[in-house]
Amino acid sequence: MKAELTRQWRLLDLQQLDTRLAQLEHRARNLPQIAELAAVSEQRDRAAEDEVLARVAVSDAERSVAKAETDVEQVRVRTARDQERLAAGTGSAKDLQGLQHELETLARRQSELEDVELELMEQVESLRTDLDRHSAAVAQFDARIAELSAARDQELAAISAEQDVATGERANVAAGVGADLLALYERLRDQRGTGAAALVAKRCTGCGLELNASELVRIKAAAEDEVLRCEECGRILIRTAESGL
Ligand SMILES: [Zn+2]
Repeated sequence: MKAELTRQWRLLDLQQLDTRLAQLEHRARNLPQIAELAAVSEQRDRAAEDEVLARVAVSDAERSVAKAETDVEQVRVRTARDQERLAAGTGSAKDLQGLQHELETLARRQSELEDVELELMEQVESLRTDLDRHSAAVAQFDARIAELSAARDQELAAISAEQDVATGERANVAAGVGADLLALYERLRDQRGTGAAALVAKRCTGCGLELNASELVRIKAAAEDEVLRCEECGRILIRTAESGL
């Protein structure tokens, strides 16, 4: 293939822009915030699971307190009824004695049940504290996630702006390369990651290898507009003032 040297040089500019675009793409994919977000999101999910369990524990305990309250209330009602009957003074002396006895039993029972209720209420308090701790942890992770997402988006926007600039430049440069040479370059770039390399100090900057003597002779003898390829890596090899020929 033939192409004026100036067109070949444009390939080097193009390669530089493509390398830049690849670096930007790599940077966007590997932002530290992305990995941190994944880790924090995992922690957040675990904290949220703990929060759900803590919430269930609180509502279970609250139900137990309600049940204990009902038990206490039943004893209170019974006590009030017995006291009324006792105050009315109706019934035999034996009946009244029986009532008295029952009232004593009820008083003991009420005291026991109130102790149970108190204990359960303390448990609810402690479980609520637990729940608050888990909720606070979830909120903290959420805040960190929001912070990281904002930082990531800011970085991505900056990268995207740089990509836009480089893409615009690339279109300008590519227009000056010519369809035939551009097609070859693109094909090589697809295969090898980079399509063109400068020959600097007898070395292909694509694969880094130094050209042997016979290669150098061939290149020196080649016409200026001859499109050369590196024998090692196959990339378009471009002669420059620093080629050392
Ligand atoms: Zn090479």
